[in-house]
Amino acid sequence: MTRITVAKGDGIGPEIMDATLEIILAAGAKLEIDEIEVGEKVYLAGNTAGIAAESWETIRRNKVFLKAPITTPQGGGYKSLNVTTRKFLGLYSNVRPCTSLHPFVSTKHPVMDIVIVRENEEDLYAGIEHQQTDEVVQCLKLISRPGCEKIVRYAFEYAKQQNRKKVTCFTKDNIMKQTDGLFHQVFDEIAKEYPEIENEHWIIDIGAAKMADTPELFDVIVMPNLYGDVLSDVAAQITGSVGLAGSANIGEECSMFEAIHGSAPRRAGQNVANPSGLLQGAIMMLNHIGQTEIAEKVQNAWLKTLEDGTHTYDIFKEGTSKQKLGTKEFAKAVIENLGKKPSILKSVSYANNAALNLPKYNRKPAAKKELVGVDIFVHWSGSNPNELAEKVKRIESNGIKLSMITNRGIKVWPDGFRETFCTDHWRCRFKPNEGTEIQKTSIIELLKSAANENIDTIKTENLYSFDGKAGYSLGQGQ
Ligand code: NAD
Repeated sequence: MTRITVAKGDGIGPEIMDATLEIILAAGAKLEIDEIEVGEKVYLAGNTAGIAAESWETIRRNKVFLKAPITTPQGGGYKSLNVTTRKFLGLYSNVRPCTSLHPFVSTKHPVMDIVIVRENEEDLYAGIEHQQTDEVVQCLKLISRPGCEKIVRYAFEYAKQQNRKKVTCFTKDNIMKQTDGLFHQVFDEIAKEYPEIENEHWIIDIGAAKMADTPELFDVIVMPNLYGDVLSDVAAQITGSVGLAGSANIGEECSMFEAIHGSAPRRAGQNVANPSGLLQGAIMMLNHIGQTEIAEKVQNAWLKTLEDGTHTYDIFKEGTSKQKLGTKEFAKAVIENLGKKPSILKSVSYANNAALNLPKYNRKPAAKKELVGVDIFVHWSGSNPNELAEKVKRIESNGIKLSMITNRGIKVWPDGFRETFCTDHWRCRFKPNEGTEIQKTSIIELLKSAANENIDTIKTENLYSFDGKAGYSLGQGQ
């Protein structure tokens, strides 16, 4: 018996959750259920997080959470409960299988069978954003070595367990050499530990195009958070329907399982919604808690039901479908098929599908870290970079010199192009003369002088080398 937390959510949530629970309990799932309230009602009662403190206690105690979609009210500073839950509970891995069900669900990609493994906690989703000048706002993209190692290892362990042949990594490290560069580097390091699994890296743009065009080329694909967010929806959509995909959010201690679609408020209360996405989430949950036989039984019954042509309205198609069913009737059809297997679609076997047990992250020995310069960002409304250089050069001291100015990353001084468009947000890079050292106190001196010269400094970024290797990007055009 496993005790789990269930939230029925908003819109079509309660209907698809009831259908899902009915199916898995009929299949023999051994569950004790604690139900909590999350979503719209909680938000509108004035709780901007969409969840009460005592509900967190239930989730943390039970560790396994099955969640129906919720409606996040527009405006009013409401926080996305999904993002909060993933981060609070350390659910670093988002796993989303996207498999075609041809010929029973129409798709342009009949042999597609891929799994997107998306990093779930960091990247631009750290949500650290600042307005720095009248014209420029920034969002901090944070990629960590532990974050990369955990997700990449998860992808390889998952591939190994599921007998999958290849893990592909998507990044944009030709542009983001530090952040995406780290993700790619860790991918290459960890791939070496799994010689039996093929590995490859694609630049995300062409990789995504290829995935949308010929998904049969891919097997497991691992990627940072933002790319994974976008591409996992693309992958689910091109199987034929987003309404059919579920996802697992896995952490070291806790896990959350859900459908990928939203609360479809316009369909609520009409007994028409397709419970399949949430059911897929629930099947991943059953595997995760070790009830793999039940998971297998439910999945095979579900495949058989689709094969029988008994479909909800969203996938109903004259010719292929035989019967249009409501939510409750569809659940009943799946229950009647428990114990049966599909004959055209491939039946599943989940014999080795229990939760993956990954090693804890081991912190690496610290590298030799040296301060080698500083970028001082300046809010300045002029347009001629040479004028700014002249002004900023007045603060040079202790052998530390202005070496470059960029605007939105492109070098505009020295030797900039007149054609380059400039905003009011300038990065002034200071480096010590050859043989001179730079200290933290020299940076403070620079900032003091800037204040005296009425230069509006908005932030600094220290430039470091790690074991002699530059830990910062060059200016574009430098
Ligand atoms: P949606 O996924 O709710 O609906 C998109 C379309 O798909 C609609 O036409 C809907 O009728 C259809 N659809 C979705 N699920 C279906 C199902 N199971 N059966 C049949 N048809 C289905 O997306 P949306 O309309 O953009 O968002 C509605 C609300 O859901 C918003 O408040 C949004 O914030 C929320 N949302 C929640 C989650 C979540 O909790 N995980 C995810 C996405 C969106």
